Amino acid sequence: MMRLPWFRFESPRSVAEAARILEGEGPGAVLIAGGTDLLPNMKRRQQAPQVLVSLSRVEGMKAVEDGAGLTLGGGLTLAEVIGTAGLRARYPGLWQAASQVATAQLRNMGTLGGNLCLDTRCSYYDQNHEWRKAIGFCMKRDGETCWVATASKRCLAVSSTDCAPALIALGASVRLESTAGERDVALADLYRNDGIDYLTRRPGEILTRVLLPDAAEWTSTYWKLRRRGSFDFPVLGVAAAAKLAPDGSITEARVALGAVSSHPFLTRAGEFLAGKRLTDEVIAEAARMVASRAKPMDNTDFDVYWRKEVVAEFTGYALRERRGDDMDAVRLRTARRTL
Ligand SMILES: Cc1cc2nc3c(=O)[nH]c(=O)nc-3n(C[C@H](O)[C@H](O)[C@H](O)COP(=O)(O)OP(=O)(O)OC[C@H]3O[C@@H](n4cnc5c(N)ncnc54)[C@H](O)[C@@H]3O)c2cc1C
Ligand code: SF4
Repeated sequence: MMRLPWFRFESPRSVAEAARILEGEGPGAVLIAGGTDLLPNMKRRQQAPQVLVSLSRVEGMKAVEDGAGLTLGGGLTLAEVIGTAGLRARYPGLWQAASQVATAQLRNMGTLGGNLCLDTRCSYYDQNHEWRKAIGFCMKRDGETCWVATASKRCLAVSSTDCAPALIALGASVRLESTAGERDVALADLYRNDGIDYLTRRPGEILTRVLLPDAAEWTSTYWKLRRRGSFDFPVLGVAAAAKLAPDGSITEARVALGAVSSHPFLTRAGEFLAGKRLTDEVIAEAARMVASRAKPMDNTDFDVYWRKEVVAEFTGYALRERRGDDMDAVRLRTARRTL
């Protein structure tokens, strides 16, 4: 049995109090929300914080503010996000992404903020302490070598959050609060392409809100590749959002990728699609552009060359669905459910 290391538990009631504790304790203190990512990491000794600062009793972390756009508290569980009134109709890409995270039990515990700050993953890293010790550890924790690419100066662990690419495609930003005040950053800018230092979040900052812009005239979708239909981390996530003109042409679009590098990111396909109709040729060209940006590494499930190839396929599925094609059969084949 893997046991948790010793830690002190703090349960503040306000964001200000949580921020004060984080500042006072310094790097030895870590935020915990649902704990579904952090606690397994601690059991594997990938992280051993001295203090856990819980967000579960912090007032306002579960706020939902509905207006032209939608604001979601970082402390909402994924089950609560999925159940938010109107979310499925207005932001289907986020609904589909959140619905495919892990299992129902984990979605009842895991939060939106935790999902966006999820640790990066790697088959040489997501192992118990003894396993990692046997290979001399690796650069991400306690070692010096990257076993995925021994010449690499940087850790190539994979960003595996489902909600981040969906939210990036939707143009979302996040609010970060600390003792120094608050700032809003575009969600894409929260991430860094570095498996160790994967967030631009400053020490002591708490992700309190996810801010979604007005979705009027926008449609969105999320396509996830994973081995098991029941639950599995993504080995590819393609998120597309498009604003359509009455004649069916695209006014504005965003296509984001997840799980093919150390950060989820926006591709340039959106710029290419603007002003065009989604013909088969346009979809094929956009899919090629998106696939050219994917750099999957051999540190997660499935063959790495096949994973690269399948990016274009999945981008095509997402765009054909936005065009109005009936994609239920393809969804059923890839996700084992129609969504
Ligand atoms: C078996 C299994 C399968 C899984 N499958 C998936 C999957 O398919 N897709 C997927 O995306 N995830 C998956 N997960 C990961 C995880 O369950 C979810 O991502 C969940 O949403 C994480 O949220 P949490 O509240 O539990 O995070 P926690 O474990 O509490 O925290 C995760 C990290 O985020 C930080 N953090 C948490 N909240 C905040 C905040 N408000 N501000 C700043 N930092 C914060 C913590 O300090 C920690 O570093 C899986 C986990 C397991 C165990
Ligand atoms: S990518 Fe390399 S350094 Fe990063 S976790 Fe994997 S083996 Fe370790």
